[in-house]
Amino acid sequence: MSDLPLLRFLGRCHVEFAQDFSGKLADYIPELTKADPAHFGICIATVDGYVHATGDGYVPFTIQSISKAFVFAMALELIGAEKVESTIGVEPSGDAFNSIRLNADNRPFNPMVNAGAIACSGLICDAEGNGAFERILHELSRFAGRRLDYDSDVFESERATGDRNRAIAYLLRTHGVLRCEVDQVLDVYFRQCAVRVTAHDLAVMAATLANNGINPVTGESVLSPYVVARTLSVMVSAGMYDYAGEWGYRIGIPAKSGVGGGIVATLPSQLGLGIYSPLLDSHGHSVRGVQTCEALSSHFDLHLLNQVADVRNCVGAAYDLAGVSSRRNRQAGEQAILDAHQSSVITLELAGAINFGNMEYVSRRLSEAKSRALQAIIDFRRVSSVSQAAVRLLESCLDALTASGVTVTLSGTAHMASFSAAVDSWLGRMPKLHKAALLDEAVEWAEDQIIYLHGGYDRLREQTALADQALLEGLPAEAVESLAASMTERRFQPGERIIAANERAHSVLFISRGMVSVKLASGLRLATLVAGMTVGEMALLETYRSADVWADTRVDCLELSLDAYARFREEHPQASERIIRNLAALLARKLIVANRKIDALASY
Ligand code: GLN
Repeated sequence: MSDLPLLRFLGRCHVEFAQDFSGKLADYIPELTKADPAHFGICIATVDGYVHATGDGYVPFTIQSISKAFVFAMALELIGAEKVESTIGVEPSGDAFNSIRLNADNRPFNPMVNAGAIACSGLICDAEGNGAFERILHELSRFAGRRLDYDSDVFESERATGDRNRAIAYLLRTHGVLRCEVDQVLDVYFRQCAVRVTAHDLAVMAATLANNGINPVTGESVLSPYVVARTLSVMVSAGMYDYAGEWGYRIGIPAKSGVGGGIVATLPSQLGLGIYSPLLDSHGHSVRGVQTCEALSSHFDLHLLNQVADVRNCVGAAYDLAGVSSRRNRQAGEQAILDAHQSSVITLELAGAINFGNMEYVSRRLSEAKSRALQAIIDFRRVSSVSQAAVRLLESCLDALTASGVTVTLSGTAHMASFSAAVDSWLGRMPKLHKAALLDEAVEWAEDQIIYLHGGYDRLREQTALADQALLEGLPAEAVESLAASMTERRFQPGERIIAANERAHSVLFISRGMVSVKLASGLRLATLVAGMTVGEMALLETYRSADVWADTRVDCLELSLDAYARFREEHPQASERIIRNLAALLARKLIVANRKIDALASY
C-alpha cells in the first residue's frame, strides 16, 4: 500500500464503494448501456501537477455534461463575457438537466443545464462555423493536457435518439437564442458530449480550474482568472442541477457531473478531482462518485465555506528596536541614541498569503503604532502572495501614514514581481515611502535616520586609538604599548577582502578607521563593524575563519599575529586574561541581542 495519505484514503473509498451496485446505467442514450457497472476510478490532480490515481483511472468514457462547464469557460474566453452573459443566464433552475423550460426572458437559466449548454455550443458555432467542434475538442484537450478524441458510436446513438434536446434547441431558436441551424448546433453539442476522457483527464481538467486557469501538468495557460471564477460559480449554483443546493450544503465543492458516469470537482488553489463510475442516481449523478465526494469532503473537512483562518496570523513578528537591531554594530555613542529611541521604529514581519482580511488587520496595527513611531518597516520576505484587495488596502494605508509624517520602508518584495511593481509605482508619489531589498538593510537605514536626527554622526569617531578598543578595555597603558609595538599596520581599499572564510586564522585585526562587513559566501551580511571594533578576534579561540570580511570603505587596521599574542601572554599574563574576559563580555552581549531577536520572533 502507498505511504501517501491521500492515495491511501482514496484506496479505502475505492474498496468500500466498489461494492455498491445501486443506481442505473443511463439508457436514454442506448450506447451508454454498454458501460461496465463495475468500473470505478478515482483520480486527484494537485496544483503542483501531481496525479494520484486509484482503480480504473485510465478507462475511457464519454464526458457528457461535464463538457458544459469547460465549453462555457471557453466561450467566455473566446467570445467575451458580455455576449455570453447576455445570451445565457446564471440562475439555478432547480430543474433536471434536460428541462425544456426557459427563464422569464426566454433565455436559458444557466450554462449547466442542457438548454444553456446548447446555447453555448450555438455561440461557438456562430464564432467558428464549421470548425466549431474541432475548436471545442482542441480547447478540451488543453484542459486535459493531451489530445482527446470522441466516441462516434455514442455520438451517433445520441443523435438518433436526442429528440428532447432537439425540442430544446428549436425552442431556443424560436426565441432567437440560437442563430445557427438546429442540426448544426446539435451536431456540435452531441459530439462535444461524446468526447472521450478518463478519470485522470478529468482530474487534470479540474485542477486547471483549481490552479487559476493554468494546467498544472503542462504549465499551459488555458483560462484567465476572471473566467475561472465565473465557471466555478455556475458549477456551485447549478453544476449538480436539481441537487445543487443539497450538494453545496453537504459537500461544498464546485462540481459537475455527466451521464457517462463522470464527476469533476475543484477545490480552488488545492486540487482537482475526477471520478468515473457509470451507475447513476435519480439526478443522473454517478452514485459512487457522489459517495466519494461526500467521504472526501467530510473526512478532510473540505467544505469551501468552512474557513478557519485567523487574520492575525499574517504577522509573523512585530517588534521595535528594543527587540531587534540591524547587523551593523554601533559605537557606544550611536547605540546610546538608539537605546533612547527604541520605540520610534516599529517593524512588522508578514508571512503567508496576504488577503483582504489580513491587510485590514495590518492597517490597524500600523495606524495604532502611528502615535508613537516615526518609522514603520513592513517585511514581505516570507509572504507568498498579496491579493489585489490587500494591495488596494495597503496603498491607501501607506498614503495616510506617510502623509501624517511616518516614514515607511517595505522590504523583501522582490520575489513577487507584480506586487513589487505596484510598490515601485507608489514610490514617486509618496516621498516618505522607501523600499529595501532586505529587512536588515531596512532596519539599518531606519537606525541611521534616528542617529542622524539626534545628531549622532557629529559625535561619531572616525578614528580610534588602540587604547579605546573595546577588546582592550581596562588594560594598563604599558600593556597596550607593548601590544602596539608588536602590531603591523594594514590598509585596505574599498571592496578588498580582508579575511577569507575557511582560511587558517593567524591574527586579530583592530579597526582604527573605516567600515568592514562580515559576509557569508551567499552574500548575506552577518555584521558591519567600524573603528574601535575588532575582526577575526575569534582567532583567539578558533583555528579557522568562519566567514569573509570585506572592506566597505578605505580601512586602516592594526594586526596582531597569534605568535605575537603568545609572546605577549608570557610577559603579561594578567592583561591577556583581561583580553579574554573582554572577548567573553563582547560575545555575551551578542548572545543577548540574538536571544532578544529569537524572543521577538517567537512571541508572535
Ligand atoms: N448528452 C447528454 C444530454 O444532453 C448529457 C446529459 C448529462 O450528462 N447530464 O442529454
